[in-house]
Amino acid sequence: MGKNMNRNNNNRNRNYRKKRRNTAPVVINYPTTVSYYEGITVGALAKRLERKSGEIIKIMFKLGSMVTINDPLASDLVELIALELNVTATLEVDAIEKEMDFESEIIDNEEDLVERAPVVTIMGHVDHGKTSLLDTIRKTDVTDGEFGGITQHIGAYQVKINDKLITFLDTPGHEAFTAMRARGTKVTDIVVIVVAADDGVMPQTKEAIDHALVANSPIIVAINKIDKPGVNTDRIISEMSELGLVTEAWGGNTMFLEVSAKTGQGVEALLESIQLLAEVSELKANPDRLASGTAIEAELDKGRGVVASLLVQNGTLHHGDYIVVGTTSGRIRKMTDHHGNDIKVALPSTPVEILGLNEVPIAGDSFRVFEDEKTAKEVASRKKNLLDAAERGVSSAMSLEDLAKQILEGNMKEIPVIVKSDVQGTAEAVRSSLEKIDVEGVRVNVLRAQAGGITESDVMLAHASNAIIFGFNVRPNANVRSKAAEDNVEIRLHNVIYKLVEEMEAAMKGMLDPVFEEVIFGQAEVRETYKVSKIGTIAGCMVIDGKMVRNSSIRLIRDDIVIYDGEMASLKRFNDDAKEVQKGFECGITIKNFNDLKIGDIIESHGEKEVAVV
Ligand code: GDP
Repeated sequence: MGKNMNRNNNNRNRNYRKKRRNTAPVVINYPTTVSYYEGITVGALAKRLERKSGEIIKIMFKLGSMVTINDPLASDLVELIALELNVTATLEVDAIEKEMDFESEIIDNEEDLVERAPVVTIMGHVDHGKTSLLDTIRKTDVTDGEFGGITQHIGAYQVKINDKLITFLDTPGHEAFTAMRARGTKVTDIVVIVVAADDGVMPQTKEAIDHALVANSPIIVAINKIDKPGVNTDRIISEMSELGLVTEAWGGNTMFLEVSAKTGQGVEALLESIQLLAEVSELKANPDRLASGTAIEAELDKGRGVVASLLVQNGTLHHGDYIVVGTTSGRIRKMTDHHGNDIKVALPSTPVEILGLNEVPIAGDSFRVFEDEKTAKEVASRKKNLLDAAERGVSSAMSLEDLAKQILEGNMKEIPVIVKSDVQGTAEAVRSSLEKIDVEGVRVNVLRAQAGGITESDVMLAHASNAIIFGFNVRPNANVRSKAAEDNVEIRLHNVIYKLVEEMEAAMKGMLDPVFEEVIFGQAEVRETYKVSKIGTIAGCMVIDGKMVRNSSIRLIRDDIVIYDGEMASLKRFNDDAKEVQKGFECGITIKNFNDLKIGDIIESHGEKEVAVV
């Protein structure tokens, strides 16, 4: 289609030229709008823009990034390319895009929902008995006997108690749990925190509680090793209550169970408590739709290929299903339960092991089943593009230190830089000074030199093009700073041109001296001003970022431009002198020898620390 379009264009142009030869320059009617999806490749975007891929590659090169026709582009890059071509770009949400949103919850009709088994994670301090407890619980499974007690390790298992199932994730410890949470997946309905009666609350016990609380998972406390002589469970109950887990016996709402993983004492009661808590939580799913869930483990097996353990969280998984797990797809050609038995269907809360994926997914990846192979493949490939694009983004940002290293290694011939300054004249002066620096064939390429504060769009451009931002007499506001931190974009701030140039030159020689780097403590916004004879103007402020530090250096910023550099004279909370005032609090500030304070001004409190560079 692209070819045809080009041919049509060429025809049109040829006709056009014939008719109006020598009267007007050639006009090509490129589209003025383009729609794209996250992770669109250079080639696909070029097609939509009715331009040659080479043109896009050239633009990207100008922005400081080398790409090829098959490279995926993140949306900020597409926007920059569009900007360059004067085209309005809109992010489209097409059918595939909608399918890709694994995390969006499909809302089921209430009548389609049925009860499902709770999924439980056991956490606690090392050696408190997590593994032993998981083993003991596994052995209580009556069905185990039927299979001669053989269990496969697939990262999770189910036990039946009072005719109802409970699913346990059997990768004890926090890593699996944290890894999944970090990836935004919630797999656990209930957390059992194990505390050894002879050891008490330890650092990882606290960590486990924090994880469970943050994930909003209900907690049951299992006091383990009560078979040991002389153990004192009251001490543990009291230590736990200090951490906010108060036993029902003391009027709290946390269930505490005394167990011994060694003798099996109390384990059945623990399982019944889990069931009780699950009933209260009303855990439900709709078995009557395409399955979705989370990968709990995956590996490449020499003989069998990609082996993945999945937890079905909704819908029913079938042998033969087309599935996408993270960024990989495949068709399930074998499915087994934790006993290693072949199964054809897996209901919600069932852990299974599957064969048939093309690549190894990562624990914590979400999965979803699709109607047909084509959609599954397209979804997986777009997801992979997206991930590649995101990774490209992260790796492209560079600090001055990285840069010095790259130059030393001879990998860098051109340094992209963005200059923002209080006035255009200075921006130009900085630009020409930077462009004059020549160190062994390495030169500075100033992408943008403008008057004005550092904006998010500067950070976006820097991120996309590997550039460093130099601010001259301007300050980034809190939003811009946090975006820069997120994108790994370095912002260097100066107020003396030769120092800025010196720093750049040193970096280019690969020899940055240890320098005193500025630490910004925080920013406060002036909300009121009071004139007091003898003292001068007092600014009534709200700390909007970080903190204000007494006697620190300050900058007064108006409309993102530094209008005064100086020192703080006083910092007060109400009428008292304060050493520091934190974000979200009001304070009164006066500045040494400076009274021209206005409502809306930003006072930045800062200091210095020595940093080793390179
Ligand atoms: P994990 O690091 O939390 O997985 O702890 P383990 O399950 O590996 O147990 C650590 C040690 O405590 C092992 O030597 C177990 O045999 C022992 N242990 C675990 N549970 C009990 C118990 O209930 N009673 C006694 N006496 N020892 C236990």
